[in-house]
Amino acid sequence: KWCDVEDIIGVVLSQVKDFQQHRKISVDLPENVPFLLGDDVLLEQVLVNVVSNAIKYSPDHSEIIISVRQDDHGVTLTVADSGIGIPDADRIRVFDKFYRADKTRHVPGTGLGLAICKGIIEAHGGTITAAPNIEKGTLIIINLPKGDQSFMYPIDPEGESRTS
Ligand code: ATP
Ligand code: MG
Repeated sequence: KWCDVEDIIGVVLSQVKDFQQHRKISVDLPENVPFLLGDDVLLEQVLVNVVSNAIKYSPDHSEIIISVRQDDHGVTLTVADSGIGIPDADRIRVFDKFYRADKTRHVPGTGLGLAICKGIIEAHGGTITAAPNIEKGTLIIINLPKGDQSFMYPIDPEGESRTS
């Protein structure tokens, strides 16, 4: 199903509204907002998880920036916060089930959010990674391939594989 990225972000913003407190969430969209081939509810769930982490692990009154870019390979969604950041040694493991960085042990959580995100993004043929944000904090980078590859439906109802 084709999903409008702007609509997805709108749903995400409404879902985190009561929880974001005084954090400012900005959205940086390109002139032509891309469409994504995928499951809108699952993609919303990914962004709600990632934005909830950005809220949870950053100070009140700080800014969170969701940005969307498109190039020949596909669509990149990033969520940047200026919170406590993810230590280098944890950057890959935070996507494992139940893994939580030591420095966030005092904040409640189960350590499942990013593992679920990774599963959903990989099911869409994409990747999700964590990087340090420029000055301070965390940058979560989600790459989704261009929507003309029918990656969601490798097998049709008759059981024949698609060629594209
Ligand atoms: P939950 O299952 O409730 O989401 P959680 O937030 O602890 O619990 P994940 O969302 O999977 O679990 O994140 C795993 C770990 O990665 C977190 O415990 C935290 O240590 C680290 N982390 C994730 N996002 C951020 C962020 N934006 N800034 C700093 N640390 C983060
Ligand atoms: Mg989480």
